[in-house]
Amino acid sequence: MVSEVDAMYAETRGETGLAAMSDEVRSAMGRVERHRLVPAAQLDAAYANHPLPIGAGQTISQPYIVALSTDLLRINAGSVVLDVGTGSGYQAAVLAEIAAKVYSVEAIPGLAHEASARLADLGYANVEVHVADGYEGWPSGGPFDGIVVTAAAPSIPPALIEQLKPGGRMVIPIGASGGIQWLVLVSKKADRSFEETRILPVRFVPLVEP
Ligand code: SAH
Repeated sequence: MVSEVDAMYAETRGETGLAAMSDEVRSAMGRVERHRLVPAAQLDAAYANHPLPIGAGQTISQPYIVALSTDLLRINAGSVVLDVGTGSGYQAAVLAEIAAKVYSVEAIPGLAHEASARLADLGYANVEVHVADGYEGWPSGGPFDGIVVTAAAPSIPPALIEQLKPGGRMVIPIGASGGIQWLVLVSKKADRSFEETRILPVRFVPLVEP
C-alpha cells in the first residue's frame, strides 16, 4: 500500500508540489493497522489504495489522500490537530502517529463510538473522539496547528478558520456533493488573514448540515 501511495505522489507531483511522501508520513502510514479500522467485510481490501465503505453510507478515505492531507498540514510531535469526520478513525490514527494530540469530531454517534473504541484498542491514547457538528469544529480543544476535514463543504466553515492558529494549516475538500470538488489548502497568516490554494480535484462524501 505504501509503495502505491509513493507512486501516486510521483504521478501528482506537478499538482501537489510534493515530490515524495515525507519520512514522517511514510512511517505513520506503515505503522497504522488499517485492517483493524475497516469493517470485517472489507478486511481483504484493507490495504488497497482506494476508499472503502464503512457503514452508514460513509467511506474510509483512500490511503493516498490521507497521506497527502497529512503531509500538507506540516505537523510535528508538538502539534495539536483537529480531524473533522472521524468515520473509521483511520485519518485520526495517521495524525495521532505524528502529532501530540488529535481531536476528532463525527456527526453520526454510532461511527464515533465505534471509531473511539477501535482507536483505544489500538493504543491511541492521544485521540479524543466527540459526537459534534464539524461545521462548528471543537473550540475547547483549539486553537489548532492543523485541521483536516474529510467530507466536502460548499465553502470554508468560518468556525474552522477561527480555530486555526496563526501559522496553522487546514486541508479541506470544497465543492458540491457529487459535483466538482477541490482539495484546498488553507494557510492562516500571522495577521489572521488566510490564503487558499487548490491542490487536486477530489471526490468526498458531503459534510452534512445536521
Ligand atoms: N476520515 C474518515 C473518513 C470520513 S468519511 C476515515 O478516515 O475513515 C466522512 C465522515 O464525515 C463520515 O463519517 C460522516 O458521518 C462525517 N460527517 C459528515 N458531516 C459531518 C458533520 N457536519 N460533522 C461531523 N462529521 C460529519
